[in-house]
Amino acid sequence: MLKQISRAISWSFMPVSLKYLSLVAYVILIITGLAAYSTDAAFLRELRNTNLGNLIVWSYWWPVIIVLAIFFGRIWCMICPVEIITTFFAKIGLKRKRPKWLLSGWAITVFYILILFVGIQGFAIHRNPFFMAIYLLAIVGVSILVGSIYEKNTFCRYVCPVGYLLGLYSRLSFLGWRVKDKNVCATCKDKSCIHKKYQYNLNYKSCGVDLYPANITDNSRCILCAGCLKTCSSYQSQPNENRPNPHLTYIGFANDLFRLKPLKMAEMVFVLVVSGFVISEIWSEWSVTDKFLGFIPNLILTPFSQNNNFIGGFIKGSIIFAIIPLIIWLVPFLISRLIGKTIKIKEYFLKYGIAFIPIIAAAHIDKSILKSTSRIPYFEHLFDDITGVSTAQKIIDEEIVLQQNPFWLNFVVSLLLTLVIVIGIGLSIKVVKLINQKQGLEKSTKSFYLIPVVYGSIFLIMILAWRWL
Ligand code: SF4
Ligand code: SF4
Repeated sequence: MLKQISRAISWSFMPVSLKYLSLVAYVILIITGLAAYSTDAAFLRELRNTNLGNLIVWSYWWPVIIVLAIFFGRIWCMICPVEIITTFFAKIGLKRKRPKWLLSGWAITVFYILILFVGIQGFAIHRNPFFMAIYLLAIVGVSILVGSIYEKNTFCRYVCPVGYLLGLYSRLSFLGWRVKDKNVCATCKDKSCIHKKYQYNLNYKSCGVDLYPANITDNSRCILCAGCLKTCSSYQSQPNENRPNPHLTYIGFANDLFRLKPLKMAEMVFVLVVSGFVISEIWSEWSVTDKFLGFIPNLILTPFSQNNNFIGGFIKGSIIFAIIPLIIWLVPFLISRLIGKTIKIKEYFLKYGIAFIPIIAAAHIDKSILKSTSRIPYFEHLFDDITGVSTAQKIIDEEIVLQQNPFWLNFVVSLLLTLVIVIGIGLSIKVVKLINQKQGLEKSTKSFYLIPVVYGSIFLIMILAWRWL
């Protein structure tokens, strides 16, 4: 099966033709979003589900690419339309060398934090079709800007937070992009896969994201463009039947994660913020936990009569995306300190930070399940009115009554939510165990099991109380 997929990817029109198709879809979704401007909160509550762009982007596209990344790697990047846009502008652009700060990875973390604070908290891009469209346009705008200034594919490797998040989740993937035989690469004279001559081709191109296929040991950076597969096959200085060497292969579930590669500082901050983001994503699904989520921020905001959306959003965002996760991350470390000799705080954050990833991924899968199933009733009316404006009004006026999902579906959803989070906690326990064994520390490392216990409980207890009691 994987052989066939690798062969299909090597066809001249693949995967590039899929990118053009997704570009068309991308444009349609943006247009439908732009056509549905509203700032009325009550109206937006329906419009976000009746507008084609908003519904597809947040309830289906986003959940699907997350789940695909967790099981199969960065499959979305293979067909992402933004990649061809930025590659085109890199081809005609200034091709400047990338500065150190860009190569450090901090640009992605800062961009992601900006999206959370300005996009999600300020403009509610996940709930407002118009601002969702502006967000998609902004991503394209940044990709054009970065592509026009810097050499190679700088946007996909060093700026795009979507790809970065998918790269993080692809540590769990069954599949990976590797070479079949490293010896073939060792004796290869042309090194077509990384040759400058092919760097700015739009299809048969050498690697634009600074990878050398023979050295790829994890899934996080490769955008599965298949460029190296094609150059390796087509530009051989001496015919070699063992080429093309790069291919999609089975590496085993969570193989990358169990290799225990520590996070870099910028990556760690990114993971910490995502760990807070998924709490808000899951807790906002149930009215009880949703109220609790707003409790502390409201406590701070009310005495100052702070009604400004942006300041309020910033304070709320800081608490949910930074302070709460930071406290959760610190608990196991502080207890390990109380128990005995332990590692330094920086080492803890970078090494043990990866133990949060399976639970974050599990929570994200849960959110995907909830989003995609709860929006099924809206589909019936979606294509009668793709902007969703009149459908939303009819729902509010009770001219349209939405069907409820059947009981069995809700039961299956509850089962899946619980199972997925339990698996996430189990994987996290295994990661802590492996790191502890590697660290060789005795008593104090036991407290690091609090990572799956404390962080996992935040989701598991909520799901049990909400779906089963
Ligand atoms: S991937 Fe192909 S082109 Fe690149 S070094 Fe290996 S054999 Fe050569
Ligand atoms: S390693 Fe190959 S498939 Fe991966 S990004 Fe580079 S050229 Fe594309």
